[in-house]
Amino acid sequence: MRDEAAVKLMHVVGARPNFMKVAPVMAAVDAWNAAPPGDVRFEQILVHTGQHYDAAMSQVFLDELRMPEPQEHLGVGSGTQAAQMARLLERLEPVVQRHAPDLVVVPGDVNSTCAAAFVASRLGVAVAHLESGLRSGDRSMPEEINRIIVDHVADLLLTTCQDADLNLMREGLPAERVVRVGNTMMDSLFCLLPKAKDGAGVAKSRLGLTGKPFVLVTIHRPSNVDDPERLQDVLAVLMELAQQITVVFPMHLRTRDRVARLRTEGGAADGAFVVCAPLGYLEFVGLMSEAAAVLTDSGGVQEETTALGVPCVTLRTTTERPITVTLGTNELVDPSDAGAIVAAVRAAAARGRPATPPAIPLWDGHASDRVVKALAAWARRR
Ligand code: UDP
Repeated sequence: MRDEAAVKLMHVVGARPNFMKVAPVMAAVDAWNAAPPGDVRFEQILVHTGQHYDAAMSQVFLDELRMPEPQEHLGVGSGTQAAQMARLLERLEPVVQRHAPDLVVVPGDVNSTCAAAFVASRLGVAVAHLESGLRSGDRSMPEEINRIIVDHVADLLLTTCQDADLNLMREGLPAERVVRVGNTMMDSLFCLLPKAKDGAGVAKSRLGLTGKPFVLVTIHRPSNVDDPERLQDVLAVLMELAQQITVVFPMHLRTRDRVARLRTEGGAADGAFVVCAPLGYLEFVGLMSEAAAVLTDSGGVQEETTALGVPCVTLRTTTERPITVTLGTNELVDPSDAGAIVAAVRAAAARGRPATPPAIPLWDGHASDRVVKALAAWARRR
């Protein structure tokens, strides 16, 4: 039965990087409700848009991160940017109307994030943006446009670091909307790291990696995989790297669709280039924690490698997460410069890790508690 006095939160997830950001927030809301420290109580529901629908990109995360089954599953699937966005808007509107939340909470920068923020704000429902304020300055990235739109319609801007706050100020957003809470992705990482490390041996033996140093690769940004020539160049770089060190490439479905004739799955028996399906969170984190280096174009992986102290080479010329370069283990390399990529990855693997992983302020495993406090403060003010 509905608790009329409770503040009703609607979390909207849709794609792989959303789950690890939202799971600890939902758990922290449950913990708050179990012993509310004040007058505010929450009710929460989870909406899954189905932007990622393959089990390897969705259900595995709900399970491993112990998320509740979504109350609403919108099944929007893939398509062109516009077609997907149109379906998202069309299917989210009646869901927001039916559930009538007080606050729609959206994470990160995927299309579901943007559509949910847009629908909610048009219906007069308040929006909280988790991971607000990140900017790469590169408007050719769909994610950058999504970030800008969401931040400008959101009522509560929950940021991970100081540079995000500064970006929001620069864009004229009111300081009273901004709360620096830290990085909820780190809450998931630190909580599940011991379990992920325990399971790393199984993943390594399944992929034929036992006893070998390896480079872990994730590449799926449109700028790196949509142009066949660029993709070919990226694959050639990986082949070259694999001459010297085992390369493991759990291939995002987006990338796989574009690699027509590369062999799939299997151990490192006939070479040191291992291609496999996208991994679950525990397996991926387990392998990441043991990798000699990581080569990526993922946003989240830049942060996770920094938190783990794993050398990371990012196949992009810009990043919305500059703190991973200034304080962390991340280095940007021009994706069109094959020689520079090979050199950077080899140097990163040879360099090894810092004695202790970089400590980024508020990336301490407790960001979700601060998120819930910020939500309660918002509820008291409204
Ligand atoms: N990840 C995973 N399995 C993989 C590759 C990545 O679980 O095979 C996790 C990774 O640890 C991080 C998240 O997926 O938590 C990042 O998602 P993605 O790279 O798809 O999105 P981005 O961060 O670039 O928006």
